[in-house]
Amino acid sequence: MNLQSDIAMDARPDTSAATHGDDNTLDFRSDNTAGAHPAILEAVVDAYRTGPLSSYGDDPLTARVVQRLRTAFGHETLLAYPVATGTAANALALSCLTPPWGVIYCHPAAHVQVDEAGAPELFSGGAKLQPVDGPAGKIDPDALAAVLAQDVKGVVHHPQPAAISITQATECGASYTPDEVRALSALARRHGLALHMDGARLGNALAHLGCTPASVTWQAGVDVLSFGATKNGALGAEAVVFFDPARAAEFEFRRKRGGHLFSKMRLLSAQLDAYLENDLWLANARHANDMAARLEAGLSPLNSVRLLYPRQANELFVALPDAIAERLRAAGAKFYPWPSDRPGEHAWRFVTSFATTPAQVARVLAVAGGRDA
Ligand SMILES: *Cc1c(COP(=O)(O)O)cnc(C)c1O
Repeated sequence: MNLQSDIAMDARPDTSAATHGDDNTLDFRSDNTAGAHPAILEAVVDAYRTGPLSSYGDDPLTARVVQRLRTAFGHETLLAYPVATGTAANALALSCLTPPWGVIYCHPAAHVQVDEAGAPELFSGGAKLQPVDGPAGKIDPDALAAVLAQDVKGVVHHPQPAAISITQATECGASYTPDEVRALSALARRHGLALHMDGARLGNALAHLGCTPASVTWQAGVDVLSFGATKNGALGAEAVVFFDPARAAEFEFRRKRGGHLFSKMRLLSAQLDAYLENDLWLANARHANDMAARLEAGLSPLNSVRLLYPRQANELFVALPDAIAERLRAAGAKFYPWPSDRPGEHAWRFVTSFATTPAQVARVLAVAGGRDA
């Protein structure tokens, strides 16, 4: 089939008719299977309907994104740079925080450790990721303190401690509280390390915590943030946010060299601009969390249903009897398996998004035999 022939030359996306599936579309695989939020789609179309605009980020939209982030985070001097993927955001951010012989401490389940095909190692010129375990995807500060107590500083044989990377919300759907971030940043300060936060789901964590963006990031000691947008309504845009401008010195060269300096930067900036306008990102995240909370409330009272981790964002990790999982699959529901540490128990991950509807959740609960709230 020739796809081109199906697209009218003057076709414009009718964003008012954006649809994210009917009541029987039960897609809980990830928050990146959703489409984009209509306001973000419209912003991208608008950014290209007008012009010319200066290239390579020297445009008013990109400047406004930085301003909006300064307002959202209550930080007048932060610097921010759009990139297209979360992997680029993380790998480029971390490459500014470590020498090639450095160590980056992260959780064994961290995206940077298991889902980026070694991009942080590549972009940093070979820094070493060292996993430090802890419950629900959070690094245990005592375990990290024990690792850091081994005195390797300046010993030429050992990789040198350089940075800590934490994920907010974690890969297990939990959220670090400001105090928990502070416990890790205190360790970072004591040992001269930088603290990076992978905020692919920062909005979802904030919606759960009910705190300000500032209090769980720079005020808790985070130096650099990968600010996620793709999973929460953008087409494909993230930003690397430096709360300490001095740490950004190399970033622009690294981004260019890594192939992430877009000449028509408005493609990314227009998305982030609309994402931040009127706190759309927080509203989207609140909605996604609400849908997950509803799923949790309906499923958890059922017999032999068990949550693997406390739900503190938009992901539910749940052990289900095989009969329920099979009924859901037969009804067309999509969701991924997740390892359970109990022999014979089968667990699954359900992710909700800004586009998940109450009717879709109700349908899952009806099929599973749970009660909707
Ligand atoms: C989705 C995700 C990312 C970004 O991944 P990309 O596919 O590179 O955009 C980063 N960190 C976490 C924790 C994620 O879930």
